[in-house]
Amino acid sequence: MTTIKKSDRELGMCQDISRRDFIHDAGLATLGLSLPLGVVASGDPGSAGRYYPPTRTGMRGSHPGAFETAHELARDGRSFPAPRDLDEEYDLVVVGAGISGLAAAHYYRAKFGENARILILENHDDFGGHAKRNEFHQGGQMRLSLGGTHNLEHWKFSDTVNAMMDELGIDTGKMLRNKEFGYGRNGKNGPALWFDADTYGQDKLLTGCSLRETDSERMIAYVDEFPVSKTARDQLKHFYSMRTNVLEGKNEEQARAYLEGTAYTDFLRRHGGLGDEAVHLFDNANHGGWGVETRSLSIAECIEVGLPGLHLLGKAPVAEEWNYPAAFFPDGNASLARLQVHAIIPAVAPGTNADNIAVAKFDYERLDRPGSPVRLRLNSTVISASNIDSGVTVTYINKSKPLRVKARHCVMACYHSIIPYLCPDQPEAQKTAQKYQVKRPLLLTNVLIRSSDAMDKLGIAGVRCPGRMHGSVFMFKGINTGGYSHKFADNSPVPLTFWGSISPPEDVVDVKEQMRASRAKMLALTFEDYEREVRTVLKGLLGPAGFDVKRDVLAITVNRWPHGYANDYLDLWTPEWPEGKAPHEIASRPFGNITMANADAGADAYTHVAIDEAYRAVQELM
Ligand SMILES: Cc1cc2nc3c(=O)[nH]c(=O)nc-3n(C[C@H](O)[C@H](O)[C@H](O)COP(=O)(O)OP(=O)(O)OC[C@H]3O[C@@H](n4cnc5c(N)ncnc54)[C@H](O)[C@@H]3O)c2cc1C
Repeated sequence: MTTIKKSDRELGMCQDISRRDFIHDAGLATLGLSLPLGVVASGDPGSAGRYYPPTRTGMRGSHPGAFETAHELARDGRSFPAPRDLDEEYDLVVVGAGISGLAAAHYYRAKFGENARILILENHDDFGGHAKRNEFHQGGQMRLSLGGTHNLEHWKFSDTVNAMMDELGIDTGKMLRNKEFGYGRNGKNGPALWFDADTYGQDKLLTGCSLRETDSERMIAYVDEFPVSKTARDQLKHFYSMRTNVLEGKNEEQARAYLEGTAYTDFLRRHGGLGDEAVHLFDNANHGGWGVETRSLSIAECIEVGLPGLHLLGKAPVAEEWNYPAAFFPDGNASLARLQVHAIIPAVAPGTNADNIAVAKFDYERLDRPGSPVRLRLNSTVISASNIDSGVTVTYINKSKPLRVKARHCVMACYHSIIPYLCPDQPEAQKTAQKYQVKRPLLLTNVLIRSSDAMDKLGIAGVRCPGRMHGSVFMFKGINTGGYSHKFADNSPVPLTFWGSISPPEDVVDVKEQMRASRAKMLALTFEDYEREVRTVLKGLLGPAGFDVKRDVLAITVNRWPHGYANDYLDLWTPEWPEGKAPHEIASRPFGNITMANADAGADAYTHVAIDEAYRAVQELM
């Protein structure tokens, strides 16, 4: 019998959790009805043995079973047995069923006709890539949350992307009108900052307070409440009250070079007068936005996302109401991926449109049917794509078996860093450029809690946690679109989204080494480690407002993304590349009958970039 530590018992980490973890890791959705916490209710499409991955909880994102084959290939140099040739021929094979891969199938049909035979291969057990739907069922109600990409940044859309949105019926204006969600800042006492006992010696919630504060008087009063040393408090008070211009005497070019060439944390130390303890408060402040530690970002990059500093650059701090104008589906961009799938395989969810997509029932059995012009095959990791005279052969592993298909064309919509191992005959420069695209690890853990009572009592909808693994937490409700509604005022079960990344060790300097260290940590942590982390936060943060961590946690889904944001070029780490010679441009050159999509091809971690790159990759096919 395993003994459970007293501290774990107090967090509610009882044997129920290992059962739940076992159930989900084993993929035995049929056992769902025996879940101890009542998570799976009668409306769960994954009950009764049906294949329905969105309701799986436990370790998701890059889940067990999804990545091992690729790691064996790329890390261990494993060679696989000769594949069995399938009696299947396609016009196009797409590697990766993320938004880019799904868009590639769409554009291929537009270019080569609706009868084009397309096979999409995906290593995960669900489609969408980072566009991951987390679906909970509780007491007959469905609660949705996002497991990956959130925002539709509609103001950045190209004509190509706008046209796709129109075709799918996505009206971002309407979505915005139905959005009450404000990333946790819209509680009546928000924003809020939470200091935890493990890091700061005591659990302390400060409401109406943010490290981004622009009102120096207010901030100085708050800083007195920070559970940090007196020295750090004095430094912070001085910092927030300063009014100076460190750019004085610099011309425009020099000012730009300074802002883009200086680490934000150096700026805080050198010009803001902060010491290490105070600077560490900002370490994880950009995990969600940039996917890296603040020390790896320039002054310009941090100020752009609202961190304090304008008052040291001769400018008045901007005291705007925070309102990020992105459009949202209640499962993030997973609804976009579902609309894309429906458009190319309508039988998966007949009658679906943008007005009911969030609640539409998807029949996964229909994704890969013989006779359908487009087939989407899950749990299939591509290990090789080779040009041949008549097109390409693509080999993949499904249930440990190597299988091979033939096609005229292939679009690589997977992570670029794996392509050198799939297509080893590419030119060396192209493979080097693909390996350069190290993605940024991200973490998005959803915890379904019994109600928002405790949050409501505190008057908060979210909180920033400078000392914890997840840098921020927000309640995910108030997105009433796609046929789904969960009003902000409704205090029934609600997903709390823990959002951020995992800090690499402090002594790792190079940003790519930081990514690798962070990824290694992320993969080494068990579900239990993540569970202990979120329960610790919930007990310390919400316990004083009546939240019972043993009773009120209903389900936990950890979406870990060791390969998260595409590598956009950070100021401090990127030389100027001559036109056409940037790594992403070299990486995404066509290679015979194989072309390259994915957000990596645009070196920008956005959904609309993933779509634009798919369009380009298809146009390059002859
Ligand atoms: C947590 C998180 C939050 C984000 N938030 C936003 C946001 O708010 N707004 C925004 O615009 N963007 C956001 N992004 C960026 C996101 O990457 C893009 O929006 C977009 O989803 C990328 O789509 P993609 O198809 O290019 O890549 P992916 O979604 O990564 O899809 C590629 C797919 O290929 C699969 N694959 C890889 N190798 C193989 C192989 N060998 N065989 C078969 N399949 C393979 C992968 O597993 C994956 O499923 C976020 C990303 C993450 C991780």
